[in-house]
Amino acid sequence: MVVCTNAYRHAKACCADRAQRGNLNMTASPETLRDIVIANHILAHEEVVDAYGHISFRHPDDPEKYLLSRARAPELIEADDIVTYRLDGDAIDAGDRRPYSERMIHGAIYEQRPDVNVVIHNHSYEVIPFASTGTPLRPVTHTCAPIGKDIPVWDMRDKFGETNHLVVTMEQGRNLAAALGGGNIALMKRHGCVVTGTTVAETVMKAIYLQVNAKLQLQTMMIGEPDYLTDTEIEECTAMQQAPISLDRAWEVWCRRAAKNS
Ligand code: MN
Repeated sequence: MVVCTNAYRHAKACCADRAQRGNLNMTASPETLRDIVIANHILAHEEVVDAYGHISFRHPDDPEKYLLSRARAPELIEADDIVTYRLDGDAIDAGDRRPYSERMIHGAIYEQRPDVNVVIHNHSYEVIPFASTGTPLRPVTHTCAPIGKDIPVWDMRDKFGETNHLVVTMEQGRNLAAALGGGNIALMKRHGCVVTGTTVAETVMKAIYLQVNAKLQLQTMMIGEPDYLTDTEIEECTAMQQAPISLDRAWEVWCRRAAKNS
């Protein structure tokens, strides 16, 4: 369903050209690589990620692998940066490209959740106050419904004591994945969050609106008690937000904004 601007059509042509020249990851199609690049740029330009944070895709042809950039700020990522990993975090085709130290987050979630195809990890500053206090983050307005009604908070300290808070082993990743359970979002205390989904656009939407909801919920709490969406309203509004009429419209403008600033 991906709707692209001219700039990203050009990026797609460049990907295909590089693939033919043989200096690009050949295990994923140019279309998949282009989607990964676009998603990274969108998350950067919507300020969900800054120098840190990442988005991975389960490999379209092999569910036991995933695609993730080398360690680089999302705004700068290009198709040549995308590396293929096994679920245990071993790189297959990294060459001299240094991996993210926190890639275990991705493999551990894919391992536990066959239904998940996209994982985003970020340090959204609007979300941190909710992770820090454990104050439940819940949808305060209809566009934010896809974040869901129950967002757990994972505290790495519970099992691993005092650390640098980076998730760098599969044991740590699996502990986070267990906290995520069957849901789509988990906050990470003193750190950030993970957001999962089945498609790129739907997962990017959840990550963007998680941040929007955090901002609105905090503003609401400053002047009164939030009147949250009910469980039924969350279901109804999520169906609407994730329907093509809403999702395609959002994706198109996110692509345009990201391309303008690339
Ligand atoms: Mn992190």
